[in-house]
Amino acid sequence: MASGDGIRNGEQYLQGLRDDRDVWMEGEKVTDVTAHPGLCRGAQTLASFMDKQFDPGLQDVLSYAENGKRYAMSFLKPESKEDIVRRGAAFYEWATWSNGMFGRTPDYKNASVMAFANGAKFLEEGKPEYAENMRNYYEYVRSNDKVLTHTLVNPTYNFSQAKEGKYSGKVALQVVKETDAGIVVDGARLLATLGPHADEIEVFPSTLLRAAEENIPFAFAFAIPVSTPGLRLICRDTYDHGKSTFDAPLSSRFEEMDAVVTFNNVLVPWERVFMYRDPLLCNRAFAETNAVIHMMHQVVCGKLAKAEFIVGLLCAIARASGKDKDMAVKGQIAEAMWVAESIRAFRFSAEQQAHKDQYGHYMPLRRPLDTSRNLFPKMYPRLIELVQLLGSSSLMATPSEADLTGQISDDVERYFQTVNLNSKDRIALFRLAHDVAVSGFGNRQVLYERFFFGPQNVMASIYFDLYDKDEMIARVDELLT
Ligand SMILES: Cc1cc2nc3c(=O)[nH]c(=O)nc-3n(C[C@H](O)[C@H](O)[C@H](O)COP(=O)(O)OP(=O)(O)OC[C@H]3O[C@@H](n4cnc5c(N)ncnc54)[C@H](O)[C@@H]3O)c2cc1C
Repeated sequence: MASGDGIRNGEQYLQGLRDDRDVWMEGEKVTDVTAHPGLCRGAQTLASFMDKQFDPGLQDVLSYAENGKRYAMSFLKPESKEDIVRRGAAFYEWATWSNGMFGRTPDYKNASVMAFANGAKFLEEGKPEYAENMRNYYEYVRSNDKVLTHTLVNPTYNFSQAKEGKYSGKVALQVVKETDAGIVVDGARLLATLGPHADEIEVFPSTLLRAAEENIPFAFAFAIPVSTPGLRLICRDTYDHGKSTFDAPLSSRFEEMDAVVTFNNVLVPWERVFMYRDPLLCNRAFAETNAVIHMMHQVVCGKLAKAEFIVGLLCAIARASGKDKDMAVKGQIAEAMWVAESIRAFRFSAEQQAHKDQYGHYMPLRRPLDTSRNLFPKMYPRLIELVQLLGSSSLMATPSEADLTGQISDDVERYFQTVNLNSKDRIALFRLAHDVAVSGFGNRQVLYERFFFGPQNVMASIYFDLYDKDEMIARVDELLT
């Protein structure tokens, strides 16, 4: 695996996507994701984010220097609390560019790969070579600034079996052959957000779900290029319908796409295998390498940017018609403010209580991050409900950009104004609110927040298990004795 020059710019990133990847959407093979109408603007957006890594004003926030090269900050191996805080600032900066609406920026997976490399000793329990593979892989993605996606979950074929951690050979990804060159895998995984826009795909065990001990052919962790022969991405419909940025402010920019991944006898080279034939080790991997904690750190920073944006949107909506003077409306928006401030507090608490991990590096404190990842899937749908309640019919009073200059422009200019906004600005604001709270893009965001980290009941039960309950129970017992 060749060592690269560190951070890449947007053009280098786009060039890397022009390969033989097998991407399908709406019945057709996508020949070039950087030119496809449903995917190209998402790719360009990510390319513009990569370019920001070269902005002199942002350089020290977004990257760090080592051996004469600059690497993305998300690859930093934290050696102190200050490093954790510094990395949080980079996560937050990345998230503000899309206000959290492009959730799967590469820093998410970078933090995970860094953690697995940090905790590579854990992988030695499988085989020493696997740990070495992971250290090499980290160096490869860091020095080539590769963009990663991941797919961690087997499709549910029979829920009662899936609940027991048993997968169906009919659909789930499994090893079908071993050769001198590597393992051959066949089956499907879901879901790969950013799949068509990624260079590499991590195929790892779930961060949460527990596999049964006998599930040996389904137990592995590996990473391969998205363009590997036999790997196919089956996309959902695109939410980028080619509208202008005025008409579709979010979906025209931030379509990050989700795809089911199928593997048709795909050869995975041994040097890309990190765990194999050990379901119980796989079950422990994300927790014991601390990867899940470093990923949660990226997530809390992104959710802060997103919650702040929704607060801003609600305030702008209320101000448009003067509703912001109404006590009930103030109360509604205050609820969104509490969400933003809670997430800010979780981030602060986790960063300020960063501590040394078992491998000698630093990590943020888990509990505030875990609290955030359990609460936000419930809070975000409420934030969207608030946009709908406050926006009401204005979310439908949204003529298009063409109506502003077409035959009916006089009517549009007159009838869409409010006390504080002219018609054009009011329409722009509510088209944005529509993309947040009504459009397919907006609804996908809600679904994403509900599920991307896994089933909420499973996350909650893990939280319960990890919580220090004894002291609190003792206080109850003390009162009762
Ligand atoms: C927009 C979006 C983007 C996503 N992006 C990604 C991605 O990039 N990468 C990725 O890997 N995944 C991604 N996901 C998938 C996400 O991880 C799953 O949706 C989530 O884990 C729930 O699984 P499911 O969709 O199969 O739901 P279900 O069919 O309900 O399956 C739930 C699974 O959870 C388990 N389960 C549920 N309840 C229990 C219980 N009580 N006890 C034990 N086990 C239980 C079952 O084993 C089952 O396998 C994404 C999801 C969405 C909606």
